[in-house]
Amino acid sequence: MSDDTNVFLYKLLSGALNAQDSGRDRSKQIEIGPSQIGGCRRQVYYQLIDAPKTHEPDKLSSMMGTAIHAMIAEAIKRDDPFGDNFLIEQEMDAFGIPAHTDLYIKDRQLVVDWKTTTKAGLRYFPSEQQIMQVQLYAHMLKANGENPKEVSLVTIARDGKMEHIQVHSEAYDPAKAESGLLWLEEVKVAATKGEIPAPEKPKHFCFASCSWYDATGEVGCLSLRRG
Ligand code: SF4
Repeated sequence: MSDDTNVFLYKLLSGALNAQDSGRDRSKQIEIGPSQIGGCRRQVYYQLIDAPKTHEPDKLSSMMGTAIHAMIAEAIKRDDPFGDNFLIEQEMDAFGIPAHTDLYIKDRQLVVDWKTTTKAGLRYFPSEQQIMQVQLYAHMLKANGENPKEVSLVTIARDGKMEHIQVHSEAYDPAKAESGLLWLEEVKVAATKGEIPAPEKPKHFCFASCSWYDATGEVGCLSLRRG
């Protein structure tokens, strides 16, 4: 294959994926969602004040995560042929936060959130932030008339096998969800006072995922520097 063909195909694929991704609602989201609560306060602060972005993280892994979610949403419909037991990709709003749950199984009163990672990333599963997120989904479903009793996180390693799928389940705990809402409220109050939260994430995380990472530190955020 010629270099010309290689360049053509690279541009075709990356251009098509980026164009499709930029048209997605999730990419355009400016409101704070449950997945961000309990993460980096400074990142949430930047989003709240609509600060100019200083970095464009590579999106391929999040695109793959989105594609896997869509595949699962389609696949699990066969286990609810009449569509009366599963709420799949349910859009909702509560406590001033927009969200959509991956899955709520009514007869089990179970909230499920699918996660994608790598085999190396499995050792961080589940994170406190992921637990907060799924507890918030349960809390929001409750506020919308459902009656959740349990929450589950299910993670899939993109470079793994079925045997690498891991599940974490625990009881729905309104207190955990409330602590997440309080966390967000505190960041909002700080933002109205012009108090900029300290960086909370290491450089490798920031470079990979934060639109306000700035290696110069002149406009955006330098990331958490130790020492
Ligand atoms: S660059 Fe890192 S520390 Fe700074 S706001 Fe973003 S995630 Fe937080």
